[in-house]
Amino acid sequence: MKLRRERLAPAKHIIIATGARPRVLPGIEPDKKLVWTYFEAMVPDRVPKSLLVIGSGAIGIEFASFFRTLGSDVTVVEVLPQILPVEDQEIQAFARKSFEKQGIKIHTNAKVTKLDRKGDGVTATIEEGGKSQTLTTERVISAVGVVGNIENLGLEKVGVKTDRGTVVVDKLNRTSVPGIYAIGDVAGPPMLAHKAEHEGVVCIEAIKGLNPHPMNKLMIPGCTYCSPQIASVGLTEQAAKEKKLEIRVGRFPFMGNGKAIALGEDQGLVKVIFDKKTGQLLGAHMVGAEVTELIQGYVVAMNLETTEEELMHTVFPHPTLSEMMKEAVLDAYGRVLNM
Ligand SMILES: Cc1cc2nc3c(=O)[nH]c(=O)nc-3n(C[C@H](O)[C@H](O)[C@H](O)COP(=O)(O)OP(=O)(O)OC[C@H]3O[C@@H](n4cnc5c(N)ncnc54)[C@H](O)[C@@H]3O)c2cc1C
Repeated sequence: MKLRRERLAPAKHIIIATGARPRVLPGIEPDKKLVWTYFEAMVPDRVPKSLLVIGSGAIGIEFASFFRTLGSDVTVVEVLPQILPVEDQEIQAFARKSFEKQGIKIHTNAKVTKLDRKGDGVTATIEEGGKSQTLTTERVISAVGVVGNIENLGLEKVGVKTDRGTVVVDKLNRTSVPGIYAIGDVAGPPMLAHKAEHEGVVCIEAIKGLNPHPMNKLMIPGCTYCSPQIASVGLTEQAAKEKKLEIRVGRFPFMGNGKAIALGEDQGLVKVIFDKKTGQLLGAHMVGAEVTELIQGYVVAMNLETTEEELMHTVFPHPTLSEMMKEAVLDAYGRVLNM
């Protein structure tokens, strides 16, 4: 059938929402069969006996945890000093310990430089601590990040600014060219479905002249669906310190919570960070069962610019995991009840 090319009427407003794709690094190019990206990893031909995951961001760690749960012998290699690079250091360390306890082997400050494919397996060359070693696994997942789909759209022609693989937008998702907007992954991090959805709403409201509230990216929660789960919002302790903020930090472990014990999920941690001067909640970080459900409580609190006092006056239901969220706040002010 011959396709008919129709000339569309010029649009007054154009929204670019082309998403992102897996980043490809030289030497470790995916091939769909032995070296997967997330596309193949989501529909695997089988559960590999052994698996190397390159990269320990949310996607890499989710697949590492998933395939380990299914019985694969999993190794994770991360070039940075810790796994889950965007998370708070304490949460990173807690999660790492937990994954290692489950049998996942983790190499940080390490780099995969070469993949040799042979038969039904892959031999990876790993550089670590000035030494080179090899590891042979049935399958490899390359999870070294994503890049925005900015090519072949004619963006250069009309002058839409891009930066390191994504479209540059302002707080209302306007690009450098009037009438052209970008939302979602192609508009930059955090590359999350809920961020993409909300940007869509903000952008349309802006087009309609409804004067929307611009999105504050610091208040976008991040969730990693591994076991144990990880959830966070706002500043990490190290980011707050880098900003030279004076802070108070509170923590509460899952083993101090009745519901967590009853669920058989007593391993986890809730951590909160407050501005010492104003009492403003700056960030919350959690690892453990159901934390991806809990985080929204802190997100609402942060959006309402809640202080420690308001949180301490809030009554949390018993017995629930949510009680840990209040206990962590109390801990930041030396008033923890159940530890
Ligand atoms: C393995 C994995 C797990 C994830 N899990 C989570 C999660 O648990 N929670 C979460 O919040 N986020 C998650 N994400 C991220 C989430 O999927 C993205 O942030 C979200 O899909 C971004 O939405 P989008 O509309 O910007 O892009 P997409 O959902 O990628 O949609 C873009 C669409 O545009 C199409 N397209 C591209 N170029 C063109 C073109 N030139 N013309 C027409 N169409 C085009 C693409 O084919 C695609 O269908 C995950 C991502 C991955 C890879």
